[in-house]
Amino acid sequence: MAVFVDREKCIGCESCVAVCPVGALSMQDGKAAVDAEQCISCGACINECPVEAISREAVVREVKNNEGSDLWVMAELEDSEPVGVTYELLGVTAELAKKAGEKCCAVLIAADAADIPQKLIAAGADKVYVITDSRYADYNTDLYTDAFCQLAEAYKPNAVLFGATADGRDFAPRVAARLHTGLCADCTALDIAAENNIVEWTRPALGGNILATILCDEHRPQMGTVRPKVFKAAAADASRTGEIISFTVQDVKASSVELLHKEALTTSGSIKIEDAEVICSGGRGMGCVDNFKLLEELAALFENGAIAGSRAVVDEGWIGHGQQVGQSGKTVTPKIYFACGISGAIQHISGMNASDIIIAINKDANAPIFKIAQYGIVGDIKEILPKLIAKIKAYKEA
Ligand SMILES: Cc1cc2nc3c(=O)[nH]c(=O)nc-3n(C[C@H](O)[C@H](O)[C@H](O)COP(=O)(O)OP(=O)(O)OC[C@H]3O[C@@H](n4cnc5c(N)ncnc54)[C@H](O)[C@@H]3O)c2cc1C
Repeated sequence: MAVFVDREKCIGCESCVAVCPVGALSMQDGKAAVDAEQCISCGACINECPVEAISREAVVREVKNNEGSDLWVMAELEDSEPVGVTYELLGVTAELAKKAGEKCCAVLIAADAADIPQKLIAAGADKVYVITDSRYADYNTDLYTDAFCQLAEAYKPNAVLFGATADGRDFAPRVAARLHTGLCADCTALDIAAENNIVEWTRPALGGNILATILCDEHRPQMGTVRPKVFKAAAADASRTGEIISFTVQDVKASSVELLHKEALTTSGSIKIEDAEVICSGGRGMGCVDNFKLLEELAALFENGAIAGSRAVVDEGWIGHGQQVGQSGKTVTPKIYFACGISGAIQHISGMNASDIIIAINKDANAPIFKIAQYGIVGDIKEILPKLIAKIKAYKEA
């Protein structure tokens, strides 16, 4: 948030201009003026001003009833295709838009739009804003932020939803700061108040022990990120029609970052945990990284199986962060979730409790994981897992 100059108090002494380390202050009509894009809110000018004309006070934009309409979803692409969370967000946004009497819109920034706008419309978008340029082939914070913010300034959305993916978590805060609005990160539930179209963003707070519902009622657009797999994607309807609006970005600035090399991250089994139908997940009770071979063997018995784990084992370095399930990892909804040597802390459970079937193996009969598991085996994973693997193998061979 930029600093604020009270022009009534400013005496035009220019001392703030001299002290600003990023050149964000200049004189306009004899008074200091702030370039909000440049300001880093360091406070050097606040300390220097002899008449206390500068403060960090929020410049609260008055939200007029007609300012900001329509709910936007930022479409995220991987290999030139929208990722799953984009469809999930369109599904829930279409419902919210209906309730609010607004349009559900998608924003596509890409090198080539191809048939993606039609896919977004089939998934629930009434309008698709398309920005294309060869420079947008890969996600780039600078270029995408410039493009998105110009579009938002031109069309003034009421709210914008981003996937809480690696790119979305990078992009959304930058956009929110540039547009001087708030951002509710990692939402797990959404609603909208039909009387004033204020979005109700719900997310875990205080270490996951409570769910907080947050409103952004003084700034537009209202913004939030939503975790993949929290909402189900609506079924695609190829008969849907929608408007496709091309937007041209003015004065494209050079990016401060240059992509030199791109390499796909591979995880064990190469199936992403968010896409897996069977997840064999290990916790600290697995004892050591070698014992994860048992989970790999178990996962390999299923067509779409993957291994995952708790934060404890990610911290140990036994698996990668991309395989962490829970509040600060990923939300998963497989058909079967094997929880092996996992105690069942709330932060873990919040990422997997929507699994169809939970099977827990733990040597402590009082472990909280048993409270949410449909099937529980009390025992040592080193004894139980080999037996389970042998049983499933025998069943498959029979
Ligand atoms: C802000 C915040 C965010 C967090 N985010 C996450 C998150 O995203 N994901 C996450 O998982 N955690 C997260 N945590 C950490 C979380 O609170 C727990 O510390 C963590 O989930 C514990 O991991 P665990 O169950 O593997 O280990 P432990 O709690 O140590 O449990 C190990 C379990 O293994 C059992 N066991 C031991 N040996 C054996 C054996 N031989 N055979 C069978 N069972 C055995 C024990 O009985 C015990 O129940 C977060 C915490 C905070 C504060």
